[in-house]
Formats: sequence, structure tokens, C-alpha cells
Amino acid sequence: MSRSRSHEIFQRALELMPGGVNSPARAFGGVGGEPLVFERGEGAYLFDVDGNRYIDYIGSWGPMILGHGNEKVRAAIHAAVDQGTSFGAPTERENQLAELIIDIVPSVEKVRLVNSGTEATMSAIRVARGYTGRNKIIKFAGNYHGHVDSLLVAAGSAAATLGVPNSPGVTPGTTADTIVLPYNSVEALTSTFEKYGDELACVIFEPIVGNMGTVIPTPEFLGAIRELCTKYGAVMLMDEVMTGFRVALGGAQELFGVTPDLTTMGKIVGGGLPIAAYGGRADIMNNVLPAGKVFQAGTLSGNPLATAAGIATLSILKETNPYPQLEKLGERLMTGLAKAASDAGVAHSVARVGSMATLFFGEGPIVDWDTAAKSDTKRYADFFWGLIDRGVYFPCSQFEALFISVTHTDADIDATIAAAREALKA
Ligand code: PMP
Repeated sequence: MSRSRSHEIFQRALELMPGGVNSPARAFGGVGGEPLVFERGEGAYLFDVDGNRYIDYIGSWGPMILGHGNEKVRAAIHAAVDQGTSFGAPTERENQLAELIIDIVPSVEKVRLVNSGTEATMSAIRVARGYTGRNKIIKFAGNYHGHVDSLLVAAGSAAATLGVPNSPGVTPGTTADTIVLPYNSVEALTSTFEKYGDELACVIFEPIVGNMGTVIPTPEFLGAIRELCTKYGAVMLMDEVMTGFRVALGGAQELFGVTPDLTTMGKIVGGGLPIAAYGGRADIMNNVLPAGKVFQAGTLSGNPLATAAGIATLSILKETNPYPQLEKLGERLMTGLAKAASDAGVAHSVARVGSMATLFFGEGPIVDWDTAAKSDTKRYADFFWGLIDRGVYFPCSQFEALFISVTHTDADIDATIAAAREALKA
């Protein structure tokens, strides 16, 4: 399998962009070696510039739940392009996407469209602070909420993979009000609320973590966040950028039956185009300018192309209900991978919710960053390259979730398991 064109292009990229990339997670820092350069995606497959085909389990880090190049999404984007790419003014498509979101996610009464998950969480934190008149926030170690200064503390995703959970350039002042706690610890959460309850603006959290590998919350933990936020008047801010429209149509909040005050969404909500959103209780959202005084804005917010892709994607998900099928595919894949690892005598643990999952190289249970961090990342790297050589594109870090799309078939899954068997043996 030649990767010479990829190599050539990436060498040039290194001269043009820091580390040769526009986002660190894609630089293969967690597995060593050079990233592949892609030319085209089709359904469950990616094609690199050397003409190699891969079964794709990154799905652009989550958005591509319908697979690459869905015909209806493409048609919606084409139609929008022909009418104009940006007006910086109200459009009917913004209403249509907002209506879909509000309809699908009952806790969202009002919503604001932004351009990235980072903007969504940054804005939602500002609203939580503006609404409560308080400064302190709680986040959990290994959770990632985008590159918001105040949230780049014990951050997951590439920050964890590349060993910079606390980024240089973020001032101590910016993070002074960020309290970091271990995920899944009701005890730590309760004692922190007892100490700082009246100063807490919000608790921001991933309702299923994807950014330290997949880590599932206990019902007690989710219940405690809800109860304590209500008791102390803090905003429960559920970051569903990854889980929204993924683990169920209505996200993790539908799956677990937990109602947050504010929700952030991204990835799938834009069907592969740059759009994200934050929304929630109307009395909180009405604090956002110009309804209220909390400033938040965007030249390209509610962009016609992005809203067109989002409307098409959410409409398809709503009409087709692919979640039982995604559950079956996820089950098939992870059962197969676990069996392959057992047969190879490799210590492992599997975490999965529907079509979002991680094969950890280490004994479970993995409940927080400390337990996730014990995984054998060297073995993961070998496994990753073994899969690449066999035409399977897995997350390029132990600390990222894999995603399955509706275009993956049983045959794709079985080919992946066969490749994993060989990779684990080698
Ligand atoms: N929150 C979560 C849970 C995420 O997974 C991510 C991105 N992986 C973000 C926020 C940030 O989104 P974006 O990369 O679009 O800024």
C-alpha cells in the first residue's frame, strides 16, 4: 500500500501550517507517523490521494452519521449555493433548523446557531455566568469542550493525546474560576457544591465522554449533577456536541432521561458543514443579546449552506430512525473486537453506546481520566497502524471515540473485525 502522495503533500503542509494541520487531533500524534491525506469520501469509505480505500470510523470526528456524500444532503447544499452563500441577515432556513432542534430536543426552548462546538460552549458558559451572576464553573478531567481558554484545563481529546491538558497561552486569571473534578465522582461533586455552591454558575460536562475514549456516566453521577445544580441554582450545561443526534435522536439527555438547563450541540447538527448551536430554557436563553445583555455574535452564524446541510441531516434522521440499526452495527463491531482481543490474549475493555465506542487496551472498568490514562497507548498505536495497512481508518488516538455511520454494512464490520484479528496477532 503506497502512501507516497500523502507523504509528499504532508511534507509541504509542514512548511505551510503548524504541524502540517489545521487541528491537532488529525496529526496522528497519538499513534506516531504521518497522517493520510484524503481526496474523497463515499458512504462508509475514505479514499486517500494514493488511491487507497479505508473503512472510515472517524466520520470527521462525529458529524458523518449518514456516511460521506449523502445524496439528499448534497442536493440541499447545492440548492442553497445557487441562492447565495452568505447574507448576514435572517433566512427562513435558520427557522427551519431551529424548529427541528427544538422539536427533537425538548429541553431546548430557544436556540442560537454558531459556527463551531467551541463557540457553542464558550457562549453557553458566558450565558450561564450572565444569568446567574456567578463566576465559578465545574468541568471534569478528560472532558473536552473545544479550545475555550477557561476550559483548557485538564482537557481531553488532542490536549490529552499530545500531553498539553493545560495549554500555554491560557492565563492563570482565565482559569482561576474553573474547578476540575474527576468524572463519575458523586463525592467530589457534592463536597465542591457544599463548599462553593453559591458561587457556581454552571457544571459543564460530556453526558457520555468521547474525548478520553468513550466513558459512560453512572446514573447516580448524572442524577447528582441535576440535583445539585437545582438545589444551588447553578446551570446544568450538557455538552452534546458529540452525543447529540448520535446516541439517540434527542441525544444523551433523551437516552438517559435527564433534563439539562442548557445544551451545546455541534457535529451532526451541521451534517458536515461548520455549524453548532447552544440552547435551553427560554428564561436563560433570553439573556442573550439582543433579547438580553449577554453578548454573542457571528458574521457567518446561521449560514445558508450550513443550515441547509443541517436541516437535511436532521430531517433524514428524524424520518428514518437509524438508531436501532446503528445499535446493531455497534454491537456487532465491538463484540467482534473484544473477542479478537481476547483470542489474542490482549488485555482490553470495551465501552460503547450505540454507534460511539472505544476499545481500550487495558483492564476496565474505565470510569474517569485516571483509569483511561492507564491504557496501553503503545499497543493502541500498533493496532491503529495494523488496521491502516489493512484498509481500516480508526481514531488516531486511544483517547478518541470511534463512530459508525448508517452506510456501514455488516460486511464492512466483519472485514474490520478480520483486519483487527490480523493486526492484533501481528
Ligand atoms: N465539545 C465536545 C464534546 C466535543 O467533542 C468537541 C469537538 N470534538 C467540541 C466541544 C468542540 O467542537 P469544535 O471542534 O467544533 O470546536
